[in-house]
Amino acid sequence: MPDCIFCKIVSKEIPSNMVYEDDVVVAFKDLEPQAPVHVLIVPKKHIRSLNDTTAADKDLLSHITIDVIPKLAQQCDIADSGYRIVINTGVEGGQTVDHLHFHLIGGRSMQWPPG
Ligand code: 5GP
Repeated sequence: MPDCIFCKIVSKEIPSNMVYEDDVVVAFKDLEPQAPVHVLIVPKKHIRSLNDTTAADKDLLSHITIDVIPKLAQQCDIADSGYRIVINTGVEGGQTVDHLHFHLIGGRSMQWPPG
């Protein structure tokens, strides 16, 4: 997607602090971290939001949740202390980049409600 900032990070047209990459996913540090650990997990395929996923994305989504997130949590040393996964979706959900991404946030105590 030509004007998508995350597509440009995936293609390395724009630099990022990448912490993980495989055939279908990249993960890089958020530009404006909200916690000591704040990593964005992004499918290489451009999917606008969670609302735009289909049955064809089941393997991708389970790969992210079952394989990538726990591995990254270990890598970032927050697996045992705990962490939060956030998928902001749509305007009221607080989504500002229209390319599906998972926030992995940790390294401090989280508050609830999130605001
Ligand atoms: P959203 O608000 O859509 O859930 O999350 C978008 C996130 O992307 C924000 O936390 C924002 O700081 C981050 N972000 C936006 N542009 C860039 C960028 O160019 N590089 C990186 N590393 N993060 C970005």
